[in-house]
Order: sequence, then C-alpha cells, then structure tokens
Amino acid sequence: MRVPLLVIGGGLSGLAAAIRVARFNSDVLLLEKHVRLGGLNSYFYRNGILYETGLHAITNYADPTEKKAPLNRLLRQLKLPRKKFSFCQQLQSEVIFRNQTSLKFSNDFALFQSEIGANFPQAIDKFQHLLAFLTDFDPFADAPFHSAKNFLLDLLQDPLLVDMILCPLMYYGSSVQDDMDLSQFAIMFRAIYQEGMFRPEGTIKEFLDLLVDHYQLLGGSLRTSCGVDRILHQNKKATGVILTTGERIDCDHILSTIGHDETFQLLEKKSGLEDRPADHHPRLGFFETIFQIPEQSAHHLAKNKTIIFYNDAERFSYKIPQDFIDFSSGVICFPGNFEGMPATDRREIRSTHLADYARWKALAEDPALYKKQKKIAARQSSQRIENIIGSFTPNIVYENSFTPVTIERYTAKIGGAIYGNPTKTKDGNIGFSNLFLAGTDQGFLGIIGSMLSGVSIVNRHILPRL
Ligand SMILES: Cc1cc2nc3c(=O)[nH]c(=O)nc-3n(C[C@H](O)[C@H](O)[C@H](O)COP(=O)(O)OP(=O)(O)OC[C@H]3O[C@@H](n4cnc5c(N)ncnc54)[C@H](O)[C@@H]3O)c2cc1C
Repeated sequence: MRVPLLVIGGGLSGLAAAIRVARFNSDVLLLEKHVRLGGLNSYFYRNGILYETGLHAITNYADPTEKKAPLNRLLRQLKLPRKKFSFCQQLQSEVIFRNQTSLKFSNDFALFQSEIGANFPQAIDKFQHLLAFLTDFDPFADAPFHSAKNFLLDLLQDPLLVDMILCPLMYYGSSVQDDMDLSQFAIMFRAIYQEGMFRPEGTIKEFLDLLVDHYQLLGGSLRTSCGVDRILHQNKKATGVILTTGERIDCDHILSTIGHDETFQLLEKKSGLEDRPADHHPRLGFFETIFQIPEQSAHHLAKNKTIIFYNDAERFSYKIPQDFIDFSSGVICFPGNFEGMPATDRREIRSTHLADYARWKALAEDPALYKKQKKIAARQSSQRIENIIGSFTPNIVYENSFTPVTIERYTAKIGGAIYGNPTKTKDGNIGFSNLFLAGTDQGFLGIIGSMLSGVSIVNRHILPRL
C-alpha cells in the first residue's frame, strides 16, 4: 500500500492536521494506535456511563465576531462553521493562594485587571507595562528559551503576584519545572486571561465525532487500533512505516504528532537530547481524579466557580514532587459550572496535582499496591481540596484516578508527561526532508494549541510539498 501522506497519532493535533490536508488533498491516512481517537483528550465508559479523560476547559474563547482570534482562525482553517458548535463559557475562575490572597478571573479580562489592582495596588502600573509588552511581543518567532519567571520578577517586582499569575498558566501548559518559556507564557496569558475558557455543550466524544465526520466527508482515511511500530527511512528521508501488525505502508511524507523522542524511538535512533542541560530533562507528570456526588448532596458546593487553581504552601512549586503526589497545589475543576450547561443528577469535581512518574512506575510493578496507592491518593486529594471547596468526601458515589503511568499506557507519552518534552521543536523540523513534527512537542499546548500546531505545521511543511 502507498499513500502520499501519513499522519501518525489521532490526538487533537493529528486530527486537525489531517483535516487541514484533506481540504486540499484527500490522499491522507491518519493512524491511531488506540481504539479511540482524541489521545490525551478522549473518553472512556464505566458501567455504560461516558467519562472524559482530560477536558477541564478549552482556552482561547472568542466571540464569533472576532475574526482574527485563534479559535475562529482555527475553525476557518479547518473549514468548520462556528455555528456547528455550541460553546459554553466559564462562569468564573479563581487563583487561590491560601492564607495569602486570591485573584478572580473570567472571560471578561477587566475582572482580572481589577482584582490585581485591588490586591496588588503597588504593582498595577507594572502590570500595565506587562500588557503593553505582550501587545508588541511576537511569541511565534523562533527564539531560545527565555525564563518567563525571571522576566516577570524583574518587571513586576512581586514574587507572590508572579507566582499567582504563573500558577494557572503552568498547570495548563508548561513542560518546564518551576518556569515556562516567555513565548509560551505570552501565548498562555492571552489564551487563559485575555481570551478565557469555555467548553463544548456536549461531551468530548461529540466534539471528536464532529471532527471525524468532517474529515471523512472531505475524503480523508482513518485507521484506529493501528499502531506504528517503526518508521522506515533512508538518507534522512522517511519512506514508510511498519505497523505493529507487521503490515507495511509506503508514503511520500509523514507528519508525526506523537512527540519528539517518541518519533525518534520509531526511527530507531537516538535523538541527541542527551546534550541538553540536565535540568531540562525531567518531564512533569500529573495525578487526576474525577469525583462524582449526587446533586442533592452538592447544594453547598460553589455553583458559580468553574476552575480553582490553588496553592497552600508558602511558595508555589511546580516541579516533580519528592513523593507520589504534591498536594500543596493543584487544579479543581467543576465541569458542570459553565454557562448554559444542561443540568445533571450528579455533580462532578476533578482534581489535578503534580505527580512523580518514577514512583508510580515502580509501584505499577505490583498491581495490587499500585491500585491501593491510587485509592489512598484519591482520598488525600478529596480531603485536601475540601479545605477550599467544602466537604464532599462522604458523598462520593464514583471516583476514578489516573497517574502518569495511565497516561503512558494510553498515549505512549514518555514518562506519562502530558506536556511532553521540556525542549520544543518550534519549526516542526527534525532533520528529515519529508518527516515533520506537530503537536505537544512542537510547542503549542492544550486543546486549541495542539490543533493550531497541527494546522500550522501542515501549512508550513506539508501543503507546499503535496
Ligand atoms: C488530565 C488532562 C487534562 C487536560 N486538560 C486540558 C484542558 O482542560 N484544556 C486543554 O486545552 N488541554 C487539556 N489537556 C491537554 C490536552 O489534552 C493536550 O495538550 C492535547 O490534547 C495534546 O494533543 P496532541 O495531539 O498533541 O497529543 P496526544 O493527545 O498525546 O495525541 C497523540 C496520539 O498519538 C497516538 N500514538 C502514540 N504513539 C503512536 C504510534 N506509535 N502509532 C500510532 N499512534 C500513536 C496516541 O495514542 C495519541 O492518540 C489535558 C490533558 C490531560 C491528560
């Protein structure tokens, strides 16, 4: 079998890339090793009920009239009419540093500005300078890593304010310990604070189904349960792939969305990352739990808060914990608290904390111990976040947790690292004439980021070659 273009990985970047290509040339084949599409943002069933794996909120909200906004540009590039989607905006979110202060924000940026003015009056002028800087800054220009944290400390002169601004941006898009690249900061600042968050009215399954239908209507082909075992290549040119079933598919071009090192593993050669600074090696893992409680036991829980980013340590720390999990900070998401979401008979709460992949991986050797530790950790999580949102542990009727090992198992991400390699390949070029990288390790993170990554790498490298 021979195809002009193979896209490896059916996560959101692969799907977006494949749709973008199929608009112009239907000879594209998308290969996904898992039984379902979506990658990190997929779903599963327990007792016939659908659960979303990853979705808290989609960043980059924009009104349909804002033609140049990333969300609307993305939909146009994919030829997806905005009216096909029903988007629910966040109600209000908050950064809470316990015993210190809190900052509320919503899809109206004025709220965040006024919160900073009220809580950090001495820094408000400097914050305005930051906004002016971001207006002129091009985050897409190729540039070496520049510490956003140092930049902000220099500019704002207030470590607490810097930590509070960075906390949501790191949790939703930094692959670097205790820092993030300035370009990534600029992208995430706009995505989360200036544009805001939303979610589709339906489930992630409906969102994925819509993308797949669109792709197939454009003539694109798709194979799930179809893992690539090896990428064949000669003289820095990819020639095809061998699937885990042994089948061979030849091709003219490949777009890989599975990660930089993961792609090099398929090429059976070293990636050269050993030469990079040691402190950029570690990959960040997360522990996430879905809790459900009956609606009648949930009256005391906030109905007007969508996402809470909390820290209750003296200083916010975003790094691999010295234990299975670091509960001192985290994200608490209420997936039902978006404008216009239909009522349900169960209230869902999701918690996310930093986790140490190595410890979970070692424990997974003993499935019984691993399972037990997951239960312990879920309880520690619910009890810790009760300090912020109120009691709910006694009323939990369903809970499901995943560790970095779960992520590794289902998406083949090295170290189960949601945000991939700390060093990004911004131009998608990995030294092959016809094999390019899109997705998490290209540098745009999150749902909209990964989709934009797929589209931008197709525009830059694939369409001119097909
Ligand atoms: C718990 C959690 C919560 C999240 N919350 C949010 C959120 O609220 N908002 C947000 O914007 N983002 C969120 N994210 C992040 C977001 O899901 C990801 O950034 C985005 O989906 C990444 O997409 P991707 O296509 O780059 O990578 P992936 O989703 O990792 O896709 C890669 C795909 O490649 C497949 N693959 C791997 N190896 C092979 C192979 N050899 N052959 C074939 N296929 C292969 C994998 O199975 C996978 O489907 C969350 C993620 C998680 C895990």
